[in-house]
Amino acid sequence: MNDPVEIALLLIEDDEDDYFLTVDTLEAVSTRRFNVTWADNVETGMAELRSGRHDICLVDYRLGAMTGVELLESCRDALRATPAIVLTGAHSAEVDDASSKAGASDYLVKGELTPDGLERAVRYVLQRNASDARIEYLAFHDPLTDLPNRLLFGDRVSQALARTARGDNEVFVIFFDLDNFKDINDTRGHAAGDVLLTQVANRIRAILRPNDTLARLGGDEFAMCIEGPPSNHQAHALIERVRDVLAPPFDVDDGGSIVVSASFGIASTSETSTPPEELLRNADIAMYEAKRTGKDALAHYEQSMHERLQRRIALEQDLREAISNDKIEVHFQPFVDLSHGSIAGFEALTRWNDPVLGPQDPGEFIDVAERSGLIIELGELVLRKAAQCAAKWRDDYGFGGFVSVNVSPRQIVHSGFIDTLIDILDSTAIQPRNLVIEFTESIMSGDVDTVVGVLDKIRELGTGVALDDFGTGYSSLSNVHLLPISTLKVDRSFVIRHNDVKGLSMLRTIAIMSSSLGLTSIAEGVETTAQLGCVRSLGFSMGQGYLFSAAIPADQVPDLLDHQYSLAPEG
Ligand code: C2E
Ligand code: CA
Ligand code: CA
Repeated sequence: MNDPVEIALLLIEDDEDDYFLTVDTLEAVSTRRFNVTWADNVETGMAELRSGRHDICLVDYRLGAMTGVELLESCRDALRATPAIVLTGAHSAEVDDASSKAGASDYLVKGELTPDGLERAVRYVLQRNASDARIEYLAFHDPLTDLPNRLLFGDRVSQALARTARGDNEVFVIFFDLDNFKDINDTRGHAAGDVLLTQVANRIRAILRPNDTLARLGGDEFAMCIEGPPSNHQAHALIERVRDVLAPPFDVDDGGSIVVSASFGIASTSETSTPPEELLRNADIAMYEAKRTGKDALAHYEQSMHERLQRRIALEQDLREAISNDKIEVHFQPFVDLSHGSIAGFEALTRWNDPVLGPQDPGEFIDVAERSGLIIELGELVLRKAAQCAAKWRDDYGFGGFVSVNVSPRQIVHSGFIDTLIDILDSTAIQPRNLVIEFTESIMSGDVDTVVGVLDKIRELGTGVALDDFGTGYSSLSNVHLLPISTLKVDRSFVIRHNDVKGLSMLRTIAIMSSSLGLTSIAEGVETTAQLGCVRSLGFSMGQGYLFSAAIPADQVPDLLDHQYSLAPEG
């Protein structure tokens, strides 16, 4: 720590002779210059001390109206910026003790002052103060980004709440994190993740106004606190500015750039008159809710969100137990070959029929699993069970069809996915082509290169890849040919709409495109003979839906294996 060459020193001394004596001593110091401000009474002394303009303060013990110690006591808060040394007429253990209790950094006897001694005392006090300040700084700031940390943020929110308590303004807390940061960390490495976080912090810091607070709460979680009129306008405007600065790609100097988006949750004092931790917590809950609706989203806190979150937390816990107690089953729904009516394969669908909670909605618990990371375990479990079933049906009944297994975005980008797949293929000895991996287009919203890399590897193994729920998501019809897929599953919603012009033209386009790209085309959710007639006439390779069969337990599959479905129109 560099000491200042010129030190701004406040001398609180009501005796003129003593003042000159001390100044003479200070002037005799050869290594430093002192810029002395003289306060010759208590009032001026206190005002100067509180101004924060001085590096250090020397205060006489006897000041007439009060003692120097009493003066320090009433200016305690100012001593962090301006540490003080008490000057006394004679040695006194009592004064020494009272001085340190009042927050003084040292005490010196006037008669014993020498230039060297005084200089050393001042230097020690300043150095100690600087390192105290450094320690305090570290306790309240995030070392990576230099932003306020969670502790300081809580403090700033409290201060804002205190300021707005009596006025018309409100406090807004905005919680946000980066979408897919975990994947970025996993695929690009932690060093790149750190660089990204630093750049994110810098970009946002640059657009804040002096009274706004930006903090890093940990990981990729950030929060902002602003004060303003009750309308949400200001918070929204700020979020728009943040989105704008985050939009250009980030260079993390490992060769590639990264595009990020963030999801935001807003909570304000208008919703609840709660302590500051609640405001942050509510904003966090709102952000979580925003993420549920997709990336790059924004949500305001509402009470119902809290209840929903609690339900999800409970569900996550129950699911964790169900997985470890082997309560998760796999059911199978047939794919029917639309030229013969025979069964070409089965889709594996997770089922959780909890003895206490009853049957659980796969859509809901898969989502919980995806968000909590449980999907890695759950997904592997389903994949393994499905492959084991296929192997058993092959061995016992000569089944030569395929099983198709759904995988989630998080599961497919997880670094262990391919190894798990290879292990399952090896241990069950099923033909790679008798396994199909289904993924939805939502997978493409993340790191496309990584995903395509994984899909390529799956295809290299000889395993099929199906694009599920096709037509609903991100990838347009025109870039499907860029994906290494073997199968297109047109979404149920288009099959339902086979009677209207748009639905039909979508079905027709997909059928034509599939055949020209050499892909297997599957119509999902076939429920009526009219739908069946339509998708057959358009040339879909396979159909799946309640018209044929819903998903059934594995032990009922053998009875179905040789079943021939009638494809003829009714009547
Ligand atoms: P999905 O992959 O689109 O699966 C088809 C869903 O539609 C299944 O619902 C199935 O039971 C239902 N379905 C099939 N035929 C018909 C029909 O004719 N009419 C109607 N209305 N529905 C039909 P389910 O089993 O509730 O699964 C919902 C979603 O949960 C699945 O949608 C899939 O995205 C996900 N999922 C299920 N199992 C797994 C799994 O093991 N891993 C992952 N990652 N996701 C899974
Ligand atoms: Ca599926
Ligand atoms: Ca589907």
